This record gives sequence, C-alpha cells and structure tokens, in this order.
Amino acid sequence: METYILALDQGTTSSRAVVFDRSGNIISIAQKEFPQIFPKPGWVEHNPMDILETQLHSAKHVLEKASIKPEQIASIGITNQRETITLWDRNTGKPVYNSIVWQCRRTSEICESLEKKGYGKIVREKTGLLLDPYFSGTKIKWLFDNVPGLYERAEKGEICAGTIDTWLLFNLTGKHFTDPSNASRTLLFDISTGKWDKELLDMLGIPARILPEIKPSCGFFASTKKEIFGREIPVGGIAGDQQASLFGQACFDFGSAKNTYGTGCFMLVNTGKKPVFSSNRLLSTVAWDIGDGMEYALEGSVFIGGAVIQWLRDQMKLVKTAADSEREALSVKDNGGVYFIPAFVGLGAPYWDPEAKGTIMGLTRGSGSAHIIRAALESIAFQSLDLIDAIKDDIGGKITSLKVDGGASVNSFLMQFQSDILGIPVIQSSIAETTALGAAYLAGLHCGYWNDKDDIRKNWKARKTFTPALDPYEREAMTANWHQAVRAALQFKP
Ligand code: ADP
Repeated sequence: METYILALDQGTTSSRAVVFDRSGNIISIAQKEFPQIFPKPGWVEHNPMDILETQLHSAKHVLEKASIKPEQIASIGITNQRETITLWDRNTGKPVYNSIVWQCRRTSEICESLEKKGYGKIVREKTGLLLDPYFSGTKIKWLFDNVPGLYERAEKGEICAGTIDTWLLFNLTGKHFTDPSNASRTLLFDISTGKWDKELLDMLGIPARILPEIKPSCGFFASTKKEIFGREIPVGGIAGDQQASLFGQACFDFGSAKNTYGTGCFMLVNTGKKPVFSSNRLLSTVAWDIGDGMEYALEGSVFIGGAVIQWLRDQMKLVKTAADSEREALSVKDNGGVYFIPAFVGLGAPYWDPEAKGTIMGLTRGSGSAHIIRAALESIAFQSLDLIDAIKDDIGGKITSLKVDGGASVNSFLMQFQSDILGIPVIQSSIAETTALGAAYLAGLHCGYWNDKDDIRKNWKARKTFTPALDPYEREAMTANWHQAVRAALQFKP
C-alpha cells in the first residue's frame, strides 16, 4: 500500500491540506476560505472555530478527493499563519475570545509604552524581534487587560494559550505543544536558550502556565484522536509558514535564501546554528529544530509586494488581471525613467519610515500606463534588492542565488528583472506549495519517510532559472535611480 504525508497549511485567509508523495509531488490539494473579522479600523480577528472547522474540512476532503485512506498517511505536518494567538479553556476547549491576528494593530499603545520604559533592548537581544503589535505577546496582554476574570482563571491553570499550530494540535490530539519556530514569534521566547523567558513574561504580566511545552519542529508531537480520521495518525512536524517554506525550498546551508512574493514579500536567509542579530532592524528568528538543536534565519519583509499590482488592477484599473502586468511591462523597451515607490503603508527595512507615502517619479509627456506598470513590477524587485543588501551586511557574506515562490513569482518579467538587478540567479521551485511541502518534509523526516536532508535536497527541482542579463553598468545606474527616488519620497512629508 502506497503511503503519503499530509500537510495542513493554515493560512491567513484559507485553510489548505495537501497530500505529498515520496518525491515531494502534490497528489491532492483542498482549500477552504474563512471569514475575516474587522471589529474596528486596524483590528483583525479570526474565529478559532472557523479556523478549526475549515482545516478539518480540507484535511478530510483532500483524502476523499484522492481516494486515500487514513491508513496511508504516514505522518501529518502542520504549518500556520504566524503570531496569531488564541486563548481557550483547558477543560472545555472553548476559546475565550476570537483569535487576534498578526495583522491586528490594537496593541500599538502597549508597544509604545514598553518602548518608553526601555524594554526595546532586551526584546531585541532575547527574542530577535522588535516591539511591534505584529507579535503575539502584547496581544495576550491585551486579552488579560480586557477580558474580565481571564487573568485569575489563567493563574489557576484553567487557560491555555497558543499560536495557531498549538490550537490545531490541541484539537487534533488533546496535547498542548508548540515548536521553536512558532515560539520565536511570540515575544516570550529567548531564541538563544530555546526557552520561554521569565523576564519577558513578567514584562507583559503573563503567567507561564498558560504556555505550551516546546518540542522540536521535527519529532513525534502526539497522535490524532481516533474519531477525527477513524484512525490515530502521528503529527510529526510543525513550523511557522515562512520557516516551513524555507525548509520546503531546501535552504539548509548558511546564506541560502528564499523570497516569497505574495501580497508582501518575505525574504528569509539561513544563518546556521547561531542567531545573527541585525544592525538593520531585520528579524532574527528560529528556522527550525529538526532534533539536533535550533537553526536560525534572518528575516526581512516588503510590505507592498504583489499588492502594488492589485492596486493597479482594483484602484487604477490599469490592468484587468494581475497576470496582464507581465505583457504590459514587456510592451515597452524600458521603464522610460519612471520609478514607483509603493510606500502605501510606509516603508519597511532598511528605511523604516511608517509615515512615507507612495510616489511615482520621473514622469514625462512620453510616459504611458505600460511604463507605470513596469515601474510597479520593478519596485517589487528593488525592494527585495534592498532587503538582500541589508541581509548581506548583517551576515557579512554573499548570497549567491535566490529561490522564489508565491503568487507573483510566476511573473517571468518580474523574476528576470529580479535576477538582473540582484546580479544572481533567481530560481523558481518546481513545487508551488513550498510552505505545505516544508511541513510535510518535517513530518516525513521524523517517521523515516525521508531519511535526511539529502533526500530532500535531491527532491528539490527548479522549474525555471533566471540568470542576470542586464549590463552591470545599467544595473548600477537603475539601482542608483531607485535609491534617489526613495530618498526623494522620504522627503515628502505633507
Ligand atoms: P498571499 O499568500 O499574500 O495572499 P499570493 O501568494 O496568493 O499572496 O499572491 C497574490 C499576490 O500576487 C497578489 O497581490 C497579486 O496581485 C500578485 N500576483 C498574482 N499573480 C501575479 C502576476 N502574474 N504578476 C504579478 N503579480 C501577481
């Protein structure tokens, strides 16, 4: 009987389930969206029961679709939207509040007040993160400050807290565990010791007993309850989505990097067995622990990546579909001197200006919509270049190629330009679902479905490699123009 690995990929807008075979090929895939809840401007919540139900639905559906029996699943891997937090009653399993989503900005004041009290330094040194509402810790504090009686119940041991991996695992198996890649996004975890940290817990007034036990990302977590699939199946792998994608892209060596081009872009580079702390306000994070100690990554993100194309489509009506942007960009011979800074929500690394606004520069009578579309695509690549430069500066080394995935990575113009402007090969993976694949690899490594990282390296195949074709002089000139445009945009403070 053929066996497979089942990956559960719990994302921000949908829950997916993917079945992989030994070659890392997709056998079957199922997906279900769930509602986004916006109680106030800047607030984002999910109903934890929606998350659970859509995830279970996808998991069962993906097996039915491919006529795969639960007996044929050797192990389950979980990957998830990171930082989103849920608290629930340990006995009844009932959530005490909606999940507060990573995007939610409700804790900006808590963060500002902690920064004023001087906590920024210990947060950076211990967690590798910044005091930002993005991360889970201040969201838990907010719940304690706002849900009557919650703190008292937590102190008595009646409450469990968890990121989404933990919420799913608790419901699948009854166990309260997480892995270090997810723990490293909470603000409560010391990435050097690999433990929850008392000083950080005290900073936020969080009782330690609400937290899950931390187990390696690859290893036996627990088995699913019999009633779920009709048979107990081991859960053997857990990692946050970006780290799972780094693993799925087989970025196992120091300096190997991947960039995911979605709404925003997430660039992660493997930094080996020691965390590298950034001088450019990038994040240091745990990549995974496959049972032989933690490995680390540096992470930078572009806020507006593929979203700039959405904006051209929905707000400006310059393209009908995102895919049309490629044809439009190629209809002109160059950007015609037009540079687009898509600072719609400020600019992130390495500029860090939350007040910056979007700008299109270099317009002439000859500029047309195709130039603007081309400049928009180029801006995704230029922002990724700035991230790579910051990462290179932090790790004191070179990055010799970039593996890519995500919705906008199918745009060949963008990928060619990315390679041109970085001056290194840009490599599309043959498997689009690298996040789910990473979780599957973690689970499959644990149960011997794959023997070691070399098995995974062998599975990794390029769909297409883009190599630099732009004259280096031209590359430097365009990069200088981009930086001049960014500087000008940062000057504009109406
Ligand atoms: P997310 O996971 O963040 O929702 P996806 O990986 O699904 O994102 O990618 C969707 C994003 O990619 C959208 O912002 C969309 O505008 C962009 N996108 C999709 N296809 C293309 C394309 N062919 N060219 C450029 N951008 C694209």
